[in-house]
Amino acid sequence: MSFLSALTGSFSTPADDNPTVAMVEAAYAAAGLDARYVNVDVSSADLGDAVLGARAMGWVGFNCSMPHKVAVIDHLDGLGESADLIGAVNCVVARDGSLIGENTDGRGFVEAMREVRHPAGTHVVVLGAGGAGRAIAVEAALAGAARITVVNRNESRGQALAVLVADRTPAEADFQPWTGPYAVPASADVVVNATSLGLGDAEAMVPVDPDTLRPDLLVADVIPNPPRTAYLCEAERRGGATLDGLGMLVAQGAVAIELWHGVSPDREVMRARLSEVLGLDST
Ligand code: NDP
Repeated sequence: MSFLSALTGSFSTPADDNPTVAMVEAAYAAAGLDARYVNVDVSSADLGDAVLGARAMGWVGFNCSMPHKVAVIDHLDGLGESADLIGAVNCVVARDGSLIGENTDGRGFVEAMREVRHPAGTHVVVLGAGGAGRAIAVEAALAGAARITVVNRNESRGQALAVLVADRTPAEADFQPWTGPYAVPASADVVVNATSLGLGDAEAMVPVDPDTLRPDLLVADVIPNPPRTAYLCEAERRGGATLDGLGMLVAQGAVAIELWHGVSPDREVMRARLSEVLGLDST
């Protein structure tokens, strides 16, 4: 019998509205893991000390959320391949005494995508080029997508992401400025909203031409709450397959648990608990 639990958690600020702790602890309980996840409010000024504390206490890893995803890199010993390309870390893993930064946001998306369509050879359109857009574009490219089209309002940010994908991954990439309702090209297999449009607003529609949301497209959204966004409802009405942001949130958390503990957690348990604490219908 050991009374020493494996320690994990999250560093962010503000932290009080982050539901990840409920989802991860439900997964630990269901898997019978003797592990804890602590949600910690860490200011930017204290981030370095918080990471030192995690080292001193032998934490097996921790998530980093806003505003620490880039700043934490200075306090780590190395980066995984995709975190290095993305330039942001949302998951730190202790490996052989070193703290390694990983990014599970895009991996979560790719994992959710694989259940519907294998990424190999696909043309993925990414709407948005912020943190979520970068993570999804890079991971989809590393997972074998043939082409990534980045669509973004801010041209320099969108262009930089397309150049990154084209130069540093095997995929081809192009950039399309987002100046009005976007017409999804006929060659696209997947289109994902990776902007913040729709967060907390079920009525907010992503500016895409709804007539181009073909039934054979996989239409995905990063928005976890509410998960049934106007954009996904529009795609469903047209008969297309959809992936919601709640699934991506669960999948990125599940990938983190795999990295920390080498155990594959029950995604259904995680989704049900997350839905419960967010007051959502879990179906
Ligand atoms: P960022 O602030 O880094 O990027 C925001 C992006 O949204 C930019 O591309 C921005 O465009 C675009 N955008 C914002 N408003 C508009 C608008 N009115 N019209 C067109 N484009 C717009 O945010 P993140 O990438 O970190 O997060 C984006 C969303 O992803 C959030 O809602 C977050 O909750 C969600 N997310 C979900 C995850 C999950 O697991 N489900 C994981 C991570 C994030 P521009 O560059 O032109 O300003």
